[in-house]
Amino acid sequence: MICPDHKCKLVGRSTRFGIRYYCPENDCTVVCWDGSTSTPADVETRQARIKAHNAFDKLWQSGKMSRIKAYRKLAKVLRLKIKDTHIGQFDKKMALKTQKFAKRLLEKK
Ligand SMILES: [Zn+2]
Repeated sequence: MICPDHKCKLVGRSTRFGIRYYCPENDCTVVCWDGSTSTPADVETRQARIKAHNAFDKLWQSGKMSRIKAYRKLAKVLRLKIKDTHIGQFDKKMALKTQKFAKRLLEKK
C-alpha cells in the first residue's frame, strides 16, 4: 500500500484490531487497515468516510429502505458498480456525496 500524498510505502504494524498500515513520513495522517474494504486515507478523508457511514447507516436503520436498496441507490448516484460501493474506499469527495445523499433521502417524507 502506498501513501496517496507521499507515494511511499506504508509500514505495517500489528494491533489487536489487525494490521494497521501507516505512512512513515512525519506528520502524515494516512493510515489503512489490512483487507480490501478500505484504502489508505488521510485524517480528513477518514473523518468524511466515518460521517458518510453514519449518515448512510441511519438511512437504512430508519426503516425507510432496506440496506441493499440503500446501497443500490448510492451506487447509482455515485455511478459505481454495487461491488465497488465500499465507503471505506471512497475519497473525500465521494464521502461527502454519500453524506448528502443519505441526508436528502432521510429528510424526504
Ligand atoms: Zn504520507
